[in-house]
Amino acid sequence: MAYTVPKLTDYSQAALERASAELISALGQETSAVKNEADWKALRDRWMARKNGVLTQINDLWLKGAPKSAKREVGQLVNSVIIPQVETAIRERHDHIKGVAILKTARANGLDAAIDAARRGAELSAALDITLPGIRRPIGAEHPVLRTSREIVAVFQKLGYSVADGPVIETDYYNFEALNFPPNHPARDTQDTLFIAGQQAKPPRERLLLRTHTSPVQIRTMEKMRPPIRIVIPGTVHRNDPPDASHSPMFHQIEGLAVDTNITFGDLKGTLDHAMKEFFGSSVKTSFRPSFFPFTEPSAEMFVSCFICGGSGRRGSDNAPCRPCKQTGWIEILGCGMVDPNVFEFVKDNGYDPKKVSGFAFGMGADRIALLKYGVEDLQLFFQGDVRFLQQFA
Ligand SMILES: [Zn+2]
Repeated sequence: MAYTVPKLTDYSQAALERASAELISALGQETSAVKNEADWKALRDRWMARKNGVLTQINDLWLKGAPKSAKREVGQLVNSVIIPQVETAIRERHDHIKGVAILKTARANGLDAAIDAARRGAELSAALDITLPGIRRPIGAEHPVLRTSREIVAVFQKLGYSVADGPVIETDYYNFEALNFPPNHPARDTQDTLFIAGQQAKPPRERLLLRTHTSPVQIRTMEKMRPPIRIVIPGTVHRNDPPDASHSPMFHQIEGLAVDTNITFGDLKGTLDHAMKEFFGSSVKTSFRPSFFPFTEPSAEMFVSCFICGGSGRRGSDNAPCRPCKQTGWIEILGCGMVDPNVFEFVKDNGYDPKKVSGFAFGMGADRIALLKYGVEDLQLFFQGDVRFLQQFA
């Protein structure tokens, strides 16, 4: 039975919803029954004719008849919901029966060329249909390593540190010599360096290499800025490590340096303890154990209490061994120490007299921290660019 527009007496939200649902359902049934051009014209006139079409009746019976208090709501329903749906449904049905007619003709004639022409016509009209929805471009998300790096940098920025950076291709002088790695010193062997080819003609300290740590930026910054300074240095570094689950020839470091008069190891511990609580949560504890780096004296490795098992060494309902902390309850996070006076000697002329200033430095791997934080088992996943992996962090 054909749909007739009811006169509305009840203008409550529920009644309006019921009335428009009935109308849309009738629209669906009537459009799908349309099989040819003649049917379609009848459908169009029945719904859209200015005189007595369904939309005109809606306007008269629903909108004009609405009490003042409901006019605004009925107006929105009719103009923003009902009219666009009716127009779209009727137009789409016309496209559909036209397409079916073209295909029928082509099949009846048995002509591939006609089918091709029809397809080309369809493609052309599709290409020109400005009412089609656009092609969605995925927005993407920040890479987990860069997000980790940014979050750590932000912790130090809140403490008054500014961000410094420098070249990835460095000279031997900045990467090693000025950081108290003398030529032929065995400590150089601990950093498998990638050297730029064809540098043999240059004096050793001018030869180029890919920086093995972000520490050269400490020297470059001290050459430009007089003390006091507080800087944090995020950046990529390279070492001749074959890629595996925990190594990569390219990875990301974050270093920090603070220099002033009377900076002590207590400042170092307080700053880093605060930073770790900001980043991992206020319940983590820190622990410092003696270590060695050429550019700091004394030097330490800093551990944080395992933020995965809470320091117990075991996790989950089945009390499984905690792998990230190797059941020790502690995770090594960074290296640090008081700046070696020998390093200040290289920038002494810019106000860094080791008898007058002192400072501390620290460095950590952003990739390793991101692995721990997001529970990723294989470092290579960060660099393979697989969208399915990366989408998990969106
Ligand atoms: Zn643990």
